[in-house]
Amino acid sequence: MTANNERPMAGDKYARGLHYPLGVDWAPETLTPHEIAQGVYWLRMALPMKLDHINLWLLEDGDGWTIVDSCMNLSDAKAIWEQLFNGFMQRRPVKRVIATHMHPDHIGLAGWLCEQHDCELWMSRQEYLMCRNLTSYTGQEAPEAAIRFLVRAGMDENYIEQYRKRFGFFGEMISPLPDSYRRLIDGETFEVNGHYWQVLTTSGHSPEHVSLYCPGLKCMISGDQVLPRITPNVSIFPNEPNGDSLKEWLHGLERLRQILPDNLLVLPSHQEPFYGVRTRLTQIIESHDEGLDNLYQALIEPKRVIDCFSDLFKNPISNSTLNLAAGETLAHLNCLIGRKMATFEEDEQGVYWYQQVPEARQFD
Ligand SMILES: [Zn+2]
Ligand SMILES: [Zn+2]
Repeated sequence: MTANNERPMAGDKYARGLHYPLGVDWAPETLTPHEIAQGVYWLRMALPMKLDHINLWLLEDGDGWTIVDSCMNLSDAKAIWEQLFNGFMQRRPVKRVIATHMHPDHIGLAGWLCEQHDCELWMSRQEYLMCRNLTSYTGQEAPEAAIRFLVRAGMDENYIEQYRKRFGFFGEMISPLPDSYRRLIDGETFEVNGHYWQVLTTSGHSPEHVSLYCPGLKCMISGDQVLPRITPNVSIFPNEPNGDSLKEWLHGLERLRQILPDNLLVLPSHQEPFYGVRTRLTQIIESHDEGLDNLYQALIEPKRVIDCFSDLFKNPISNSTLNLAAGETLAHLNCLIGRKMATFEEDEQGVYWYQQVPEARQFD
């Protein structure tokens, strides 16, 4: 459901000012992870979609390993993990599996790995609970609340029919999570191989996303929180239609910009390791501010969610990205409503029409 993190609006314009120590055209071969910082290995696996890869991290941990993120629940990915364990990892014990967040490309094989290696799953509470909640819908029909959500956004019958058919896909990409887990809490630190890693949680892309910051190694495993050339998807979903995930997202970006030093090597889940985290955080914040501004201007006339895509996204929205585009548009609309800059009215068909509050000009 959030398998593709690309926000079409973000283009090359937002890639300026970053430094990639290994360039942007190189990534390790799947079975030969690359030591990117002392005892921290960069591992890349393929994903069967437009965003065609994910970066995973192996941390040397005494006589064993800590794994950070796991790839989707795919037989190919399982086979690669087995080859890695028997090869590069020298069959040394896996001490824990950490999941940055609950999206299938990150958590898909976490449960399976924990079972295989009889170890704990470490993740934040909201990610664990939300993941268990969402996967519980697998095999069921799309709930009425989800259909109402699509109608409000202006989706047509055709699209709603497609949605009904593919409902449950999210859970299929995730192997069952263990019945207990080790909770990661914002601000806490834990030690791996003599280095302390600090947990930094943020919300917006997912409920309680974990980034791992290691001051000693001057690096941060950033998950999907900070990516160098794509802006992570920030959406509203049917289970919380009035949420203001963009407000939370911007708050998290601001907070990281205050906390993190700029001489940090960022290890992102997609694309390549880079320096320039504060620059990148500023670019992401500015891209949303620009989006909010454009949307506000465009709402001089009443519009539905699906009428706003061209105001937010540079590329045309295809059927496969419609869901994400609608969720992200709604995130911007709800943010404007939260700032008292927009309102909406419901028509007889249950569709929401949004319009600007003309006298509200300043962002808070
Ligand atoms: Zn994600
Ligand atoms: Zn991701």
